[in-house]
Amino acid sequence: MHADHSPNTYQLTKIARSRRSLLLFAASTVFLMLGNHIVDAKEAKRLPKPGNLLAPDAALMRLLEGNDRYVHGAPRVDDFRRERPVLVEGQNPYAAVLSCADSRLPPELVFDSGLGDLFVCRVAGNFANDDTLASMEYAVAVLNTPLILVLGHDHCGAIDATIRSLHQDKPPPGHISSLVTALAPAVKASREQAGDTFAQATRQNVIDNVNKLRSTGPILNAAVEQNRLKVVGGLYRIDTGEVDIVS
Ligand SMILES: [Zn+2]
Repeated sequence: MHADHSPNTYQLTKIARSRRSLLLFAASTVFLMLGNHIVDAKEAKRLPKPGNLLAPDAALMRLLEGNDRYVHGAPRVDDFRRERPVLVEGQNPYAAVLSCADSRLPPELVFDSGLGDLFVCRVAGNFANDDTLASMEYAVAVLNTPLILVLGHDHCGAIDATIRSLHQDKPPPGHISSLVTALAPAVKASREQAGDTFAQATRQNVIDNVNKLRSTGPILNAAVEQNRLKVVGGLYRIDTGEVDIVS
């Protein structure tokens, strides 16, 4: 007598049931993979801006596409009256930006972004201190922002003041000395490198702060390790409006 390995009626019914429940499950609960971060599609729909739910690389692409529109004078016209009520209950920005406070590079314009799209911290010299780190941690841990951009720029007054202060061995007036203290390591490191000290210091400061954000625990470094967060550095050119990714 041969053992019958073909499925009997009971097993077939069971398989059909489990398939059906799997299909029902799949239909009712679609998951989105964002790096290693899984988000329920229902939950995504509840977000004020579902289109902002992006993987880190897609968020970077969107930033650069926005910069391209800005550079070429073709910004998307946003109806802010439509966006405001959508954002009353919350926010889910697709990128966080740590930029210089310089009036010539407002991130929302530079990346042609609407309300609720960018979580922005600005400080002259675009460096991460405890306060900006805390803000970035909030963006990542609470708002699930997948991308942080550190944005420096040419002709930066804070970098210039630091170079002059170190050269003259004289602190600037008032609280400006705190900027010099923060930017001094990048300026000192740039002196060791060939080329234009101003440009090298500007770039080095962006790189240093990208590394700081990537490695600071316990929130940001963990998010980077889990591929939920990307931290990149960019340099803005005041004459063309272009942002180059440098780190
Ligand atoms: Zn600046």
